[in-house]
Amino acid sequence: MLKGKTALVTGSTSGIGLGIAKALAAQGANIVLNGFGDAEGPKGEIAALGVKVAYHGADMSKPAEIEAMMTFAAAQFGQVDILVNNAGIQHVARIENFPVERWDAVLAINLSSAFHATRLALPAMQAANGGKGWGRIINVASVHGLVGSAEKSAYVAAKHGIVGLTKVTALENATTGVTCNAICPGWVLTPLVQKQVDARAAAGAISNQLATQQLLGEKEPSMQFTTPEELGALAVFFCSPAGNNVRGVAWNMDGGWAAQ
Ligand code: NAD
Repeated sequence: MLKGKTALVTGSTSGIGLGIAKALAAQGANIVLNGFGDAEGPKGEIAALGVKVAYHGADMSKPAEIEAMMTFAAAQFGQVDILVNNAGIQHVARIENFPVERWDAVLAINLSSAFHATRLALPAMQAANGGKGWGRIINVASVHGLVGSAEKSAYVAAKHGIVGLTKVTALENATTGVTCNAICPGWVLTPLVQKQVDARAAAGAISNQLATQQLLGEKEPSMQFTTPEELGALAVFFCSPAGNNVRGVAWNMDGGWAAQ
């Protein structure tokens, strides 16, 4: 379905980003990966799906590096048709103890990076398809884009912000073939959440399994993690013709978290 298209997925060396990149590659899209850590493993996993893959290690907290990544992607594959703003970090502390440097980093990586990548991707998307436009911008927000949790001020502020950015991007392009939507996962067992499970197990001197049950039990009625594969399938839907008129939604995959 996406043969000939190019998808750039930020923060795709692990977790949800890698899951979404694989799902888009399975539909035939060429992929530009980004993120820290090992890139060779993820590159191999994507190449095995029979598409072209490139990697750029831009630090998403730095606008100049985001610009370099967008230029690199266009040079590799012509243009970016699908942009998935996924890179994100977490920091957990009460507001009065929240390190200012961590606040700035969470806002830069989880919110401002999406603004920069979006502003740089839009002109080519708007010009595509003989000027009628074609493009898909998918923002990986969170259920924390819809509800709050204590000790996550920067993350909740950034995720509410990206849900707002999603709506404005969708509205400004509503008469074109460029859509923008957000995905709002509940708990997904990735390195980002494993750190929170480990911290809970250490703080309570309890097993990892019990810490996991407590984490899910507090917020997620299904008592199940959402998987990167499920989130990848939702991203594929947004990219499909059935998604042509889905504009500005914030779509939960949260096991009932926000329904409470
Ligand atoms: P993860 O830690 O597995 O992946 C994060 C990715 O972002 C990695 O590839 C990492 O290298 C990259 N990254 C971090 N800082 C970066 C930077 N400065 N520049 C470039 N890349 C950077 O985490 P994940 O759980 O897969 O999270 C992905 C997205 O999903 C985040 O936006 C997160 O907020 C969101 N999310 C996660 C959950 C969850 O339960 N795991 C729930 C809701 C939303």
